[in-house]
Amino acid sequence: MNLTDYVKQVSLDDFGKAFRHEAKWNARLRSTGGRFFPKDGHLDFNPKMLEVHGLEVFRKIVRHELCHYHLFFEKKGYKHADRDFKILLHQVDGLRFAPKLAERPVSLHQYRCQNCGQDYQRKRKVDTKKYRCGKCHGYLIYRQ
Ligand SMILES: [Zn+2]
Ligand SMILES: [Zn+2]
Repeated sequence: MNLTDYVKQVSLDDFGKAFRHEAKWNARLRSTGGRFFPKDGHLDFNPKMLEVHGLEVFRKIVRHELCHYHLFFEKKGYKHADRDFKILLHQVDGLRFAPKLAERPVSLHQYRCQNCGQDYQRKRKVDTKKYRCGKCHGYLIYRQ
């Protein structure tokens, strides 16, 4: 989908106002759903929010950013703590907080003690000749 066109449509449908700037995907956003840039008026959106949560939730994220956008250009309180922002967000049924994305599992190296079966996870690979089981001092085997 063309993101800018989509945001323009949401702006017209849900706010009755035109969105005149650009909307861009920003894959570097982590827990936030989007971001408004007052300097040049553009919006960034987190593509993972759409992937993970679908269009219905994503539309509410778009509404949230459009609240910042429209209020800013109308010279009203456009920040989260501002009353204008809270009222408008509520009126258009936007999301206050972006929903959680499933956290990416950290890849860990797994070891098991040959002697007592104790499992170990380490972020880095360890030297199994030197690094022994903390319980019984047995040798570790690398699992993955
Ligand atoms: Zn916000
Ligand atoms: Zn052991």
